This record gives sequence, structure tokens and C-alpha cells, in this order.
Amino acid sequence: MRTLKDLDPRGKRVLVRVDYNVPIKEGVVQDDTRIQESLPTLRHLLEAGASLVLLSHLGRPKGVDPKYSLAPVAEALGRYLSGVRFVPHSPGSDQAHQAVEALAPGEVALLENVRFEPGEEKNDPDLAARYARLGEAFVLDAFGSAHRAHASVVGVARLLPSFAGFLMEKEVKALSRLLRDPEKPYAVVIGGAKVSDKIGVIENLLPRIDRLLIGGAMAFTFIKALGGEVGKSLVEEDRLDLAKDLLRRAESLGVRVHLPVDVVAAERIEAGVETRTFPADAIPVPYMGLDIGPKTQVAFAEALKGARTVFWNGPMGVFEVPPFDQGTLAVGRAVAALEGAFTVVGGGDSVAAVNRLGLKERFSHVSTGGGASLEYLEKGTLPGIEVLE
Ligand code: ADP
Ligand code: MG
Repeated sequence: MRTLKDLDPRGKRVLVRVDYNVPIKEGVVQDDTRIQESLPTLRHLLEAGASLVLLSHLGRPKGVDPKYSLAPVAEALGRYLSGVRFVPHSPGSDQAHQAVEALAPGEVALLENVRFEPGEEKNDPDLAARYARLGEAFVLDAFGSAHRAHASVVGVARLLPSFAGFLMEKEVKALSRLLRDPEKPYAVVIGGAKVSDKIGVIENLLPRIDRLLIGGAMAFTFIKALGGEVGKSLVEEDRLDLAKDLLRRAESLGVRVHLPVDVVAAERIEAGVETRTFPADAIPVPYMGLDIGPKTQVAFAEALKGARTVFWNGPMGVFEVPPFDQGTLAVGRAVAALEGAFTVVGGGDSVAAVNRLGLKERFSHVSTGGGASLEYLEKGTLPGIEVLE
């Protein structure tokens, strides 16, 4: 990948694709982590005497929709950088183009949501060409969007000298360590809602790892495939054979698989609802398993001991609703406690869980890209990486 080392930004107008897809409530940014993550790249370019034009998407608007305006983001960014202004025009428009012509070195213009442009997600070549007029060089720092072959990610990168920003570089460096020469023993903890979302990642990691810990709702598909009774727990009936096949493959590769031995169950997903603990393969109707149980917490912590590389994706239970956050908390703590291990968490909900539980600083790497990090671990590359090579 070409990186910022390869770019002399002095006196240039640099177009930067960032990922400012942040939560906004009543016009105020609720969590500015993604804005903060972009600052090293922006500051580096500004200090070297560039002016910056920033592109980002926000949410999933269908055409122009003021609800998805990036105006609140410009305000939040202005708390960290001086000289930020918001350009309230679609980024491919002539008005946007005129607004950036006037930028002086040290100034920053954030353009409106790229998804206001109908050609953005289709990677329309005309739109990419209009983006390319906005700057003299292109920096891709939106790791969270690097799995999308959209006009502001891939299309424009083909038309300008293009480079990876620091966040992009950091993400690729950390995630590639999970694929190339990982230190062993190597453990993967996988959870979350569905097996079907994670098959690709599991399949690609399986030949590289020593231990696989499966929690979350997806564990029930495996437990049922082995003949267990899972009550009303979430099961993907059409993935039972696949689950069996994955277990067989793990065995033939010498991967030790750990499934929950007990679960915390309830009749409804509701804060403070009455809960019961059952063996994971004997959950009676009408109960559903909503978290790993206390014995499993201990067993998983034990299974992680001594690991030198850990990748964690997917919460162990319905962590949004206490008390079903306890298993996720326990696993988070167990990973965080590993001395000298290389530990990575990826996935939108898992990262939210780690942040909420205050464990972020104790991981080697917390990926900012949910879908992007999973797709990278599945395929070993992303459209946004390939275009910078
Ligand atoms: P990530 O975003 O980290 O990749 P997923 O999106 O795959 O994770 O899964 C997260 C979701 O899985 C959460 O909303 C959580 O409530 C849900 N979940 C986890 N365990 C269970 C369970 N036992 N039953 C129902 N939902 C669950
Ligand atoms: Mg998710």
C-alpha cells in the first residue's frame, strides 16, 4: 500500500476520505471516536502545509435528506482543528467544487454526505471524476468503508495519486498480523447473532488457529447440530449441516473447539427479567439462552490462558440488556488480562461492548471497522486496499 510517507503534501489540496459515520442525536454528535481517530492523518497533512477537502458518508439516506447532514460533524471536528468549514452542497456539485477552490493552506472543508449523490454506491465513473477535481492527491483513511467499492473510496482513488492514511495503515497492520505468522497459541472467540454472518471469517481463520471459543446466539446452532435441546434460543435451522461440517473440519485441523456448557436463559429479552441457568444442551421451552453461564465464563477464561494471539468478534450474549452482559464482560476481562498477548477486537457490536465495559485500553487493537475488519479477515484484502497498491 502507498502510504503518507510517499506523499509530499506541501501546498497541495488533498482530498481525504474519512469515516465520520457517527451517531448523531438532535444535531449533536454522541460519540466522536471516529473523528478522533482521523486526527493524526489530518494534522500531519495540515502541518505539512496542505489544505484539506474531507469526504464521508453518514447513515443510509435515500438521496438528499437533511436528517443525514454532516453539519453536526463539522462542528464536532471544529473542536479539534481550527479552520474547519462545512460546505452544505452535494460533494459532486459545482458549488462544492467552487467552495474548495478558495481554500488556503491550513484550511479544512468538510463536504456534505457522499450518499446524497446517487452515483456514490454504484461507483459511477462521472461522479468519481467530479470528486477527483476536488483535490490534487487522495488519501483514504476510512478503514470502516474500505470494503465498499464506492465512488468516494475506490472510484476516485483510481483517478488521483492515492495513499493510505495513518488509521488505514494501523488497521491493516494489526489485522494482517492475525493472518500472517500469528504467534501461537492462537485463540479466536466468536459470538454474536448469526453463524451465517461469520462463516467466511471462521473458515479462513480455522487453518491458522489452535482454539475456537463459540458463544452468543450462534452457539445454539452448533449445540443443536450436536443433538442438544436449546428451547426457544435463536437457531439457524438452515445452517445445522454447516455447523456440523465446521466442527468436523476443526477437529481434522486439530483446533480445540469450546462451546458453552451452561447458559443464562429467560422467557423474554427484557432488563431485570427473571433468569434461570441451564446446561447449554438442555434448555426447556419456553426459555431462550441469552448469555453464556457462570461455568462457561470460567471455562472460556481457562481456554484463553497462555494464548499469544487472540481475535474476538461478537458478544457472548445480549450485552445491551443487563444482566445478559455478564458473559461478554467476563470474556472481555479474560482477554484483557492476557500478559504480552496480541489481542484484537473487531465487529460493530463487540467494539461497542468493549468500549462500554471500559476495556478498550487493554486490547492491542480495537478495530474501527465492523464489516470491513471481518471482510479483511475473510479475504485477506479489501477493495480500498487493492486500489492503493
Ligand atoms: P458484531 O457487530 O460484533 O459483529 P453481531 O452483530 O454478530 O456482532 O452480534 C451482536 C448481536 O448479537 C447483539 O445485538 C446481541 O444482542 C446479539 N446476541 C448475542 N447473543 C445472543 C443470544 N444468545 N440471543 C439473541 N441475541 C444475541
Ligand atoms: Mg453487529
